[in-house]
Order: sequence, then structure tokens, then C-alpha cells
Amino acid sequence: MKNQTLHENQFRVRTLDGSYRWFSVRGVPVFNLDGSVREWVGANTDFHDRKMAEDALRRLATDLSDRDRRNDEFLATLAHELRNPLAPIRSGLQVLQLSDITDEEANQTRVMMERQLGQLVRLVDDLMDVSRIVTGKFELQIKSVLLSDVLNNAIETSRSLIDQMNHKLSVSLPGNPIRLDADFTRLSQVLLNLLNNAAKYSEPNGNISVNAVQEGNDVIISVRDSGIGISSEHLPVIFDMFTQADQSLEKSRGGLGIGLSLVRRLVEMHGGTVEAKSAGAGSGSEFVVRIPARVELPTLVPSQLSKEESKESSSLRILVVDDNRDSVTTLTMLLRRLGHQTRAAFDGEEAVAAAREFHPQVVLLDIGLPKLNGYEVCRWIRAQNQTEVVTIIAQTGWGQEETRQKTRDAGFDYHMVKPLDPNALRKILDKLTG
Ligand code: ADP
Repeated sequence: MKNQTLHENQFRVRTLDGSYRWFSVRGVPVFNLDGSVREWVGANTDFHDRKMAEDALRRLATDLSDRDRRNDEFLATLAHELRNPLAPIRSGLQVLQLSDITDEEANQTRVMMERQLGQLVRLVDDLMDVSRIVTGKFELQIKSVLLSDVLNNAIETSRSLIDQMNHKLSVSLPGNPIRLDADFTRLSQVLLNLLNNAAKYSEPNGNISVNAVQEGNDVIISVRDSGIGISSEHLPVIFDMFTQADQSLEKSRGGLGIGLSLVRRLVEMHGGTVEAKSAGAGSGSEFVVRIPARVELPTLVPSQLSKEESKESSSLRILVVDDNRDSVTTLTMLLRRLGHQTRAAFDGEEAVAAAREFHPQVVLLDIGLPKLNGYEVCRWIRAQNQTEVVTIIAQTGWGQEETRQKTRDAGFDYHMVKPLDPNALRKILDKLTG
């Protein structure tokens, strides 16, 4: 007898309403004695719904593995980007320990370490911003600002990269100062990202130009470079998260592929648009930001609490609280060099005891602390010292508005994100000492 193999096929059938449904046919042949097929025995099954579910599942699995791959790639890029500045900082430390190091060498090394540290801080800031934007926990602090101030701030920060690459920067602003309602720091971050990219994606000795004009109620700012340009294939996706036109090339130039998506998001939050233009690889690029000059001002955010500070002396009693001992050691060292008296505490209970005995005028207080957390310590100090003026500064790894609100509610005067910017801290202390 011949082998009764199961035959199976899948096909689509057009239904009366014109739509298609999937069917499967499964059958076995029944043979005559001479071996020819007499008939088929089998079944036709409408398995459309199961097929749709399976297809959806398959798509989901592909999406997930794509996302997984992108996450893996992103983590690899992140590790690479974090290592880049860490390597020279580590070797810089060793250079500083050399016994025969000259003053000039030591100074050069310190400047280099500071630059690399700045790069690390920027990476972490960008990452935090992205996560806050993605989770919708992000608010602009809109105020009336001068475009020239915003631009100068961005140029100042980008200057070392532009100079390092030997680019020529030209800036053209209209004679009448442009005033606009914007978040100074964020708009400056937008321009900084565009300037840094212009510098990064141009060969040395390039030209970068910044132009700003006012058209009706719109302010148009263009950042143009003579760099590597952007291919027509990449132009439409250049603002997408984690997009880098040429992975190998971009890796060598540093970056996570999140700068432009931040730019777009921040510009959109200002009610504006941003557009990338390039005639193709090798022809330079131009980024044009258009934002309205005047928006309905939301209620302005109250400035830092001002208080009658004791102004008798330029030396302050400062209590530094952090469970990271290295952090406390370096910070107290720095503060003592600035002429202040310091006391250190490494957990919440120690902080409370030190506050009771030392009567600090300023407390630099970490939030995540063993025993009592920073909020509890802050509340305790506020409850005890009804008469003394104490300025309490939160120093924390969290910069979200939510955490800022929490520190305000707990009675903190300032909220500083780690790593503390020594200049910003100095400004606060100078203000306190008059
Ligand atoms: P990153 O610079 O960290 O890679 P960005 O989001 O800032 O991330 O930029 C995304 C990509 O856009 C870059 O990797 C680069 O391919 C391209 N790009 C951005 N700016 C320029 C520019 N001025 N010229 C050429 N290419 C650019």
C-alpha cells in the first residue's frame, strides 16, 4: 500500500464583504489498487483568528528583540562614552603624583582633568534629562531673557571644544537686542548642543556661524558648519533618539545619540520647531531653530528663599553631611581653603548631633543617608533652630522637579545636584557672607 502522507496547505479566501480570511487544508490521499489517487480525505479549517494572533505575537517578539538590541547597543555606547573621559582622569591622577612634576605640567593636567570631568557630568546630565523628558517630569522655567546672553552662555561652554578643533566661529545678531520668553538654561543647552555638534562633526579648521534674526513674533537662530554634512537618508531621522549617522565615525567623535532629540524636545516645549539642512555628505550642515519671542508668561517661579543672613564675617560655620566619606573629605578641604570652619557627619544621627553642638550657619546635606535621611535631618534642624538663621543646601544625585519640590517642602533653601559645581556653591556662600 502507498504511503498516506499528510498534505497540508494554507491559503486566503476572499469573503463576501471583500475581506480575506486564512484557511488551512489538511488531507490524505486514498489510493486505488493500481496506485493512482482515488480521492482525498481531509478538512478545511478557518484559522484566521489564530493566524492573526500568531502574527501579532511574532511582530511583538521581533520588536522586543529589536528594542533589546538597541538597548544593548546603547549600553555599550554608554560604557564606551563613560570610559573615554575616565581614562585621562585616571592617568592624570598618576601624573599628579609624580615627584618631579613641574608646576606647568601639574596645571596642564588639572585643566585636562577638569575638561574631562565636565564631559562626564554633561553625559550624566543628558541622560537624566532624557529620562525626565521621556517620563514627562520636566518643566521649563520661563522668564524674559536676552538672546545674546543665552548665546554667550552657550558659546562660553562650547569654546574649549571649538578652540581645540581650531574652528573659526562667527556670530551675527541684529543691532536691536532680541528679548524673548524662554528658559535660559534650556535654550542655552539647545544652542550648546548644536554648537558642540557643529564643532564635533567638522574637520579641524572649520567654520561655524551663528545667525539670529527676528521675523514677526518669531526668533530664528541658525547654527551652520562647514563639516561632514548629513546624507539625505539620515536627515529625516537625525532627531530621533539614539540616532547616529555613521556609528563607527560617531563613536570616534564621542556622543550617545541623544543630543539632537533633546534639542527637538526642548525647542518644542518652547512652542518652536527645529530643522536640519544639509546638501549631503561633505557639504556642511545647518540647524535652524524657530521659537516664538513672546509667550503667555506662566506665573514666575519664586526665586530662592531670601533671608536676613548674618553678614558679620566672611567665615561661615559649615556642616557637611554625606555618607560618601571621600566626598565629605574633598568638600571640607575646599571649604576650609575658602576660609570657612567645617564639621563633617556621615549619617543622619551624626548630623543631628553635630548640628546641636556646632550651630552651623550652613548645612550641606545629602538626602540618601543612613539612620535619618536628609529630609528628616532638615526638618529636625528647622524645628530646633527657631532663632538661628541656618541655610540648608540639599546635595543630591536627583535633580527632578519632584525631588526639588520635596526638598523645598522639607525646608531646604537650595537644591544642588551632585557633583556640586564649586563655583555655584561659592556664589551662594559669598552671598551669605555679603
Ligand atoms: P551624538 O552627537 O551624541 O551622536 P546627537 O543626537 O547630537 O548625538 O546627533 C545625532 C547624530 O546626528 C550624530 O551622531 C551625527 O551623525 C549627526 N549630526 C549631528 N549634528 C551634526 C552636524 N552638525 N553635522 C553632521 N552630522 C551631525
